[in-house]
Amino acid sequence: MTGKVYLVGAGPGDPELLTLKALKLLKSADVVLHDDLIGPEILAFIPSSTEVQNVGKRFGRKSISQPEIHALMVQNALLGLQVVRLKSGDPLIFGRAGEEMEALRKAGIEFEIVPGVTAALGAAANAKIPLTHRQVSSAVVLVTGHHAATDEFADWPAKIPTDATVVVYMPGYDYRSTAQQLLRAGVPSTTPCAIVSQATLPNEQVHVTTVEDLHTSPRLPSPTLLVVGEVLRLAKPAALHQQFAWPSDSIDIDFASNGPVLSAGQERAE
Ligand code: SAH
Repeated sequence: MTGKVYLVGAGPGDPELLTLKALKLLKSADVVLHDDLIGPEILAFIPSSTEVQNVGKRFGRKSISQPEIHALMVQNALLGLQVVRLKSGDPLIFGRAGEEMEALRKAGIEFEIVPGVTAALGAAANAKIPLTHRQVSSAVVLVTGHHAATDEFADWPAKIPTDATVVVYMPGYDYRSTAQQLLRAGVPSTTPCAIVSQATLPNEQVHVTTVEDLHTSPRLPSPTLLVVGEVLRLAKPAALHQQFAWPSDSIDIDFASNGPVLSAGQERAE
């Protein structure tokens, strides 16, 4: 009998953010093919009798090609084995699941997707950044800074709505170019930005700046992502390692009904 392939999200790093379904599958799979970003604490859940292979690649420095990953999934399933293809975050967000699903469909292999907590959600939760807010942000746009395979800058929407929160996956370290891309997409230069490094992991760091000052940011350890939006002004300052310096033309938001009261240069009331 042919086996089955599970495209499983492992979450952003904290092993406690793994879903029960993912944990169950890790314990019962015959073969686990995982990405680079999967940490040792999550791999430790896999029984020692299971065949485990790191098929990860970073910024084009590939250990194994995408077609080879497809072939590994298909061959193992044809042998009747249960295969877990373990990806960081959620498999359907910048995770190449589309290509892998296509390869599995072509080969007639049954598969299932197990969602995970995507990095943007893990980062926002730990830094206490509301990604949407009734008065400040009505949309969240997930973009990638680079195409993982080629390390080229990705195409972005020509126009990002002014009240959207933007999360840039794979931002790289060319912050000047990223800031230019944001400005080209219509994001105002005074918009706050947070670089979140190793979100949900013990060494998580957050650096907060603005689009215009983004280029002066330190190179924090990877993986990093960039959150851009007025909602950052609502993040709890104590949750951020470096407190946000309020720009002089900072917005005044008065949430008379039930929100915090914000004004330039002032500590927020909660
Ligand atoms: N499928 C994944 C994304 C894979 S692309 C997801 O849904 O999260 C890899 C990129 O995700 C990294 O370059 C980085 O931008 C982001 N990322 C993944 N884990 C992260 C973490 N713990 N902290 C910050 N960024 C992370």
